[in-house]
Amino acid sequence: TYILAVETSCDETSVAIVRDGRDVLVNLVASQIETHKAFGGVVPEVASRQHVECITRLMEQAIAESGLEPDELSAIAVTEGPGLVGALLVGIMAAKALAFALDKPLIGTHHIAGHIYANRLTDEIQYPAIALVVSGGHTEIVRMESEGRFEVVGQTRDDAVGEAYDKVARSLGFPYPGGPHVDRAAQASDTAAALPRVWLEEGSYDFSLSGLKSAVLNLVNQSRMKGEEIDQGAIARGFQESVVEVLVAKAVRAAHQFGAKQLLLCGGVAANGGLRRELTARCEAEGIPLAIPPMRYCTDNAAMIGAAAYVKWTRGELSDLFIKGEPGMSLEQWSVTE
Ligand code: ATP
Ligand code: MG
Ligand code: FE
Repeated sequence: TYILAVETSCDETSVAIVRDGRDVLVNLVASQIETHKAFGGVVPEVASRQHVECITRLMEQAIAESGLEPDELSAIAVTEGPGLVGALLVGIMAAKALAFALDKPLIGTHHIAGHIYANRLTDEIQYPAIALVVSGGHTEIVRMESEGRFEVVGQTRDDAVGEAYDKVARSLGFPYPGGPHVDRAAQASDTAAALPRVWLEEGSYDFSLSGLKSAVLNLVNQSRMKGEEIDQGAIARGFQESVVEVLVAKAVRAAHQFGAKQLLLCGGVAANGGLRRELTARCEAEGIPLAIPPMRYCTDNAAMIGAAAYVKWTRGELSDLFIKGEPGMSLEQWSVTE
């Protein structure tokens, strides 16, 4: 089975061809970060326009580089949601056109299921599994009883982790997207600013990042008012330690409570060095098998969409040519039918 997958939910235009939901023949990613940097964040209209400019070329290039004849493709998969509606629509229109022209089935795919299934690009997933999803727009603990079944058991009540990283980075004077800068500064610092841990109610798997973000902004403003130099490293490290401690504790507790055979880390923030190290150490100590995708499959890419789409393909759960962008699509909605 060869699935050609398209991803345009945010600011990466990506096309991949994946064999059997696992082997990546080609994964092309055109990032718009340089364009959006000037605005300090993603501008939806600009994102849509850039997707339009490169999607056709990427699809042609992907097929050419794979060495396959177009007719050898089994299906066309595309991110249906969640994401920016205008950006999603560009990928969906292109995927529909290709599916129609080649007379191949279309598979509308969930972006976060894609982040989770990025883990299958390296190894089979063991169920039941718990996924810790940490990205620019999502922070969730997802329970998976079996392949393609998702239940969100906890999520952020305000900012997503990646979003908090980017805001903190901005206040520390780092360019957009600031997550990786804060990560590097944190790992290079010997001292850590004292910042709160937000646990919420006992037993809750939810998260709240806005209080921590405000605490960072207060520290920065206090230094400014006193005319002191901001201790970037100490603040970055204090912030990272707080975020990582809570994420790791809740994910590990969920893995125990739901009897997970595997814990899956995923999303753009899975690239975070502090989080990878802490989670790896805790899982080793507690005997929980942990999977983390290679760096290139952590941030947005189409290979992960091809991996998730394969789950639907094997069950014959295909889409029609009438799908439109679903900016608020839930994981439960995309789960396979029983
Ligand atoms: P979503 O998947 O929720 O729709 P998204 O696709 O925009 O959101 P991703 O591409 O998965 O998000 O991740 C991007 C986010 O990851 C950004 O907020 C970025 O700052 C953050 N990020 C990337 N690398 C790191 C890192 N090393 N440390 C912390 N954050 C990071
Ligand atoms: Mg992105
Ligand atoms: Fe994403």
